[in-house]
Amino acid sequence: MDKIICVGKNYLEHAKELGDAIPAKPVLFLKPPSVLKVAVTGDTTTAVLPTGVGSVHHECEIVLRLDRGGYRMSREEGRAAIGAVTLGLDLTLRDRQAELKKAGHPWTTSKVFPDSAIIGPWIPVRKFSDYLDVEFTFTLQEKVRQRGRGHDMLLSPEACVAYASEFFPLCSGDLLFTGTPAGVGPIGVDQTALLSWGNMSYSVRWKSDASN
Ligand code: ZN
Repeated sequence: MDKIICVGKNYLEHAKELGDAIPAKPVLFLKPPSVLKVAVTGDTTTAVLPTGVGSVHHECEIVLRLDRGGYRMSREEGRAAIGAVTLGLDLTLRDRQAELKKAGHPWTTSKVFPDSAIIGPWIPVRKFSDYLDVEFTFTLQEKVRQRGRGHDMLLSPEACVAYASEFFPLCSGDLLFTGTPAGVGPIGVDQTALLSWGNMSYSVRWKSDASN
């Protein structure tokens, strides 16, 4: 893996809830592999929550694993590159992001911090070919906060891959977070989340970064 690519504002209702203009093209940003937390299955995964930095929001998203790289790929090449999918969290320092947006600065420091990208177990696309049809949910403290379906994306998964590859080369093993549906909100220390999609589910519990 070379990088984690994230697509912003790929669901209409989420862009609206942030009060943002709907961009003609989605926003792209990167996270480095060092901030990735891979959830364990059959047990609760513990992740670190940054404290003293304002609100930390959950963004539950379909994540693609690219099994082939490329540059300036077609949508067909994009589709062929997607080897497996899972559900993940693109964690965001929302207050800091709002300040950065206001100043016209890049979002990097609101998106890149320890455990800011979380993923579940991989499901091969050939075993889950209807993955855009199956609803996914993000439940926090036993309340469903986010529901989404891949078909509601503004840019489809293969179009996201092709679009990102217009700008920079994609490498085998890269991950692509496809954007979040509406319902984002804050996570607190000692809270537990359940991410579910079809037969797959896993849970995450957050501990304070001050307790290290
Ligand atoms: Zn996101």
